[in-house]
Amino acid sequence: MDETGTAESKVLNILHNIKEKDVPFERVLSSMCTMPHPLAVKAHTEFIETNLGDPTVFSGTKELEGRVITMLGSLLHAPNAHGYVTAGGTESNIQALRAARNLSGKAHPNVVIPESAHFSFDKAADVLGIELRKASLDEEFRVDPASVEVLTDKNTIALVGIAGTTGLGQIDPIDVLAEIALSHDLFLHVDAAFGGLVIPFLDKEYSFDFKVQGVSSMTVDPHKMGTSTIPSSALLFRDRACLDALTTSTPYLASRAQHTLAGTRTGASIAATYAVFKYLGRSGYKRIVTRCMKLVSMIEQEAAVMGIPLAIQPVTNVIALRVNSPEEVAFRLKERNWYVSTIFEPKALRLVVMPHLTEEILNTFLDDLKDVLGVAKC
Ligand code: PLP
Repeated sequence: MDETGTAESKVLNILHNIKEKDVPFERVLSSMCTMPHPLAVKAHTEFIETNLGDPTVFSGTKELEGRVITMLGSLLHAPNAHGYVTAGGTESNIQALRAARNLSGKAHPNVVIPESAHFSFDKAADVLGIELRKASLDEEFRVDPASVEVLTDKNTIALVGIAGTTGLGQIDPIDVLAEIALSHDLFLHVDAAFGGLVIPFLDKEYSFDFKVQGVSSMTVDPHKMGTSTIPSSALLFRDRACLDALTTSTPYLASRAQHTLAGTRTGASIAATYAVFKYLGRSGYKRIVTRCMKLVSMIEQEAAVMGIPLAIQPVTNVIALRVNSPEEVAFRLKERNWYVSTIFEPKALRLVVMPHLTEEILNTFLDDLKDVLGVAKC
C-alpha cells in the first residue's frame, strides 16, 4: 500500500485498464455464469452494505432471504423448504453433506456420488472427513443405480444425484436414487446448482426435485442460470432438522446462533436474486431457457452438417462435440479469442450456452470452429 492516497479518477482508471484484461462474456462458452440481469445489479448496489452474519441487525434483508428460499422451494415442490443463501454451489454442497454427517452420528461415514459429480464434493469430503465413493455412469453419462447400490454399506450416510451435470448438463435418475435412499434410510442430496433454474422450464418434464419423495436437500444457484449476481446459491432442506443440525452458537452477536458456513456474508446478492425472481417470474425464466435451448439446437444442426458427433443428445443448455483432439481445438479457438472447455470422459469440446450468447455470436464462433477444424464454410 502506498503512503499517501491516489485521486479517485486515477484509481478508477487503473481499475478500468486492468478489467480490459478480462475476457468479455461474448467470447465465453465455457462458464456456467453469465452477465447478471440489470435489475439484479441495481438491487445488489442498493444492499451493498448489508451483512447477514448478524440477521438481527439486518432483519429486512433476512426477510428477503426467507422469501428467496420460499420462492425456490415452491418452484422445486417444497414450499415449506428450510435453508439459506450461500456463497456458491460449493458451499451448498459442503453444508448439505455436513448436515447429513451431523445427523447420522456415524464414526466412519461415506457418501456415494456419481463419477460425474462436481469437484466441490472432493472439497466437501476433505473438509468433513468423509470417504467419497464414486459410482459409475451408464452410456448416457447418468449415474448407474446398480453401481450406487453396490457401493452403499452400513457406513453410508448419504447418496448424491446431479440434476444438470457440470460436464454434459445431464440429469441423473433422481427417482431411482430416491428409492435406494428410502430403502436404506439414507439422506439424498440433489446437486441442481446448474439445472435447478433450467429443468423446471424445459419442454420435457423430469422428476428431479422435492416432488420425489426421498429427496432430502437441494443445491440451486441463482448466480448461474438465475442471472443474479455472484455470490448466490441456495441450500434447501425438506426438513427443519437438517438446518438445525448445522447450528453454531454465536454468543457475542445480537443473533444467538448461525447455521451458515460463512460468518460475515453479503445480503446484496440476496436482494439481487429476489429482484430478478420477482421481475422475471416463471414465464421470464421459461423465455430465457427456451432461447438458450434454441441456440443449442442451432449448434447441434451445424455439428451435424460438419459431421461432428455429439457426446449425448443435449438435455439442458450444454452441448459437447466429439471433435478429434479437443485440447488442440480449444487451444486454436483461444488464439481466436474464444473460451471453450474440454472434458475427458467422454473426450469432447464442451460448450455451455448461457443467456449472454446470441445467434450472431454463435454464427461467428461456428465459422471460426469450421476454420479451425478445416471444414469449408458454406
Ligand atoms: N455443482 C455443479 C453441478 C456445478 O456445475 C458447479 C459449478 O459449476 C458447482 C456445483 C459449484 O458451484 P460454485 O462454483 O458456485 O461453487
